[in-house]
Amino acid sequence: MFETTIAGSLPKPAWLADPEKLWAKWRLKGDALLDAQRDAVLVWLKEQEDAGIDIATNGEQFRVHFVHGFLEPIEGIDWNLMTPMGIRADRYTVDVPTVTAAVRRPASVHGEEVRYTRVHTRGKLKFTLPGPMTICDTIADAHYGRRADMAMAFAEILNEEARELEALGVDVIQFDEPAFNVFMEDVAEWGMATLERAAEGLKCKTAVHICYGYGIDENIQWKKTLGEEWRQYEQSFPVINGSRIDQVSLECANSHVPMSLLRLLPDKELMVGVIDVASRESESPEQVLAVIDEACEHADVERVMPCTNCGMAPLPRSLAAAKLTALGHGAALAREKYGKVP
Ligand code: ZN
Repeated sequence: MFETTIAGSLPKPAWLADPEKLWAKWRLKGDALLDAQRDAVLVWLKEQEDAGIDIATNGEQFRVHFVHGFLEPIEGIDWNLMTPMGIRADRYTVDVPTVTAAVRRPASVHGEEVRYTRVHTRGKLKFTLPGPMTICDTIADAHYGRRADMAMAFAEILNEEARELEALGVDVIQFDEPAFNVFMEDVAEWGMATLERAAEGLKCKTAVHICYGYGIDENIQWKKTLGEEWRQYEQSFPVINGSRIDQVSLECANSHVPMSLLRLLPDKELMVGVIDVASRESESPEQVLAVIDEACEHADVERVMPCTNCGMAPLPRSLAAAKLTALGHGAALAREKYGKVP
């Protein structure tokens, strides 16, 4: 009951990259970098274990960017041909690499890091991959012509990767699809089909993380334009509920998402965001419990999984650790409260 997990990313320790910076460059190279990344994973596995997080991740310590980390070794992408693109419907403009030929995965992308992480945790392990729609919103297309076609091509190689990671002992494969919150019509039209293709044949749990983004300025400003009630999920949830994906992550802590939208996901496990990744102080376990309480008014208790709203990569390390502890302790309070025989 109330199995806890996190959206995925955790801060890079100072020996790995500049702290409190999203997408900061590595400080080291070659074998020294690999050692430093592994050390960071050990720290975060221990922190998660001590905080009572049931489904751990490696905190994405082996990648700079949550999408490009997967794309780097993929063939068909020209990294010298950077195209300025307004991503997430022009929320930010970024220079992105360009697809110039059919994409192909010549070798495993994340196999080595998963092997390492798996050996060092006895608990359940989750691994996050970017979703096909979000990849297509983070890369320019000079080959496929239609976003839906490019997304399906990425879905196929994501599926190869996901199957390999499952075989290495990953318990949950999560696809990050923040684009699902921006292009709601495309979700029904082709987004969900490409996501299901990426997850095809997996026997481990599958999850989708749809979010309103990291706690960075661009997102905070964008959120101000969304009005009092955030109802973006209203369009995508029925489509997701009809899919084969097992778990859905959603932003609930300090958000304007009406909790009643959980009712649109009656057949899914719900990763309820009880930790705000934009606030500069840690929640208390009681605050975490309050969000869980609210979720339980709209969903069966056994489907509620306390989680973070989004990744914690840009936070100070000590704050992220404190938030992990609040998450674990808040869930423990909930187990005590709801586990009692009425
Ligand atoms: Zn997120």
